[in-house]
Amino acid sequence: MPPSSAPRTHFGRGWWISAHIVPNRISLLILTIDFEGATVDIVKGNMGWIEVIVGPMFSGKSEELIRRLRRAEIARQRVQIFKPAIDERYAANEIVSHSGLGIPSDSVFRASEIMEKLLPRTEVIGIDEAQFLGDEVVDVCTKLANLGKRVIVAGLDTDYRGRPFEPMPRLLAIAEEITKLLAICVRCGNPAVHTQRLVDSEDLIVVGAMGAYEARCRRCFEPNPALAHEKKDGPQLIASNRAASADGS
Ligand code: ADP
Ligand code: ZN
Repeated sequence: MPPSSAPRTHFGRGWWISAHIVPNRISLLILTIDFEGATVDIVKGNMGWIEVIVGPMFSGKSEELIRRLRRAEIARQRVQIFKPAIDERYAANEIVSHSGLGIPSDSVFRASEIMEKLLPRTEVIGIDEAQFLGDEVVDVCTKLANLGKRVIVAGLDTDYRGRPFEPMPRLLAIAEEITKLLAICVRCGNPAVHTQRLVDSEDLIVVGAMGAYEARCRRCFEPNPALAHEKKDGPQLIASNRAASADGS
């Protein structure tokens, strides 16, 4: 993102070009194109790209996806939003974050349905919970970006055992821009990279939120859900962390 003090020129429909001088041994002029919140260093013509937002449950992926999509709508870009039909925990036709933010969306059973439902003039495509759409979503995102679309995809990068959750690693490999978010460990208050399953099931997909899963840091994470409740000393850690920061120590 260019510094806000940089002189900016508006080129219509959400495209800003900002030129800023970097104080260096020699003056250097850097041109950055800031496409309403997404910054990709060099974009020429109608090039598309893929942005991926990953992290555990409760890390704010849906919030961040909704924020980017809202900004695109404010810039009057044509936006289409999709989520897998499997994830209808809160609403069938809306992406809803754990904090209650929502945005209308279209449910799809397969990634290829996104291509079928694509309107020719759509400029920005948002996809939530992409880990439920299988390998096909990688080809779909590639096609969309090659068609000149901005594709914003959110999903879990690891499963309930802490293993890479396909196809997210493949999406990360082909993305122009990656954002990794962390939640807060409910046991100790440290940054949480893991999604702890609290129900004893070996199925890869058990859809649920509060009660079935919680955010845990690498220290508190228990990959075997049957043992998840046996990790002791978490709550005490939160209390001692708070006491330590109150002391200034
Ligand atoms: P994700 O899509 O990654 O599951 P959401 O965007 O749906 O996350 O929800 C993020 C919100 O969840 C936070 O802003 C916060 O209000 C809430 N939340 C609940 N539990 C936690 C936690 N352990 N860590 C961080 N945020 C949490
Ligand atoms: Zn922890």
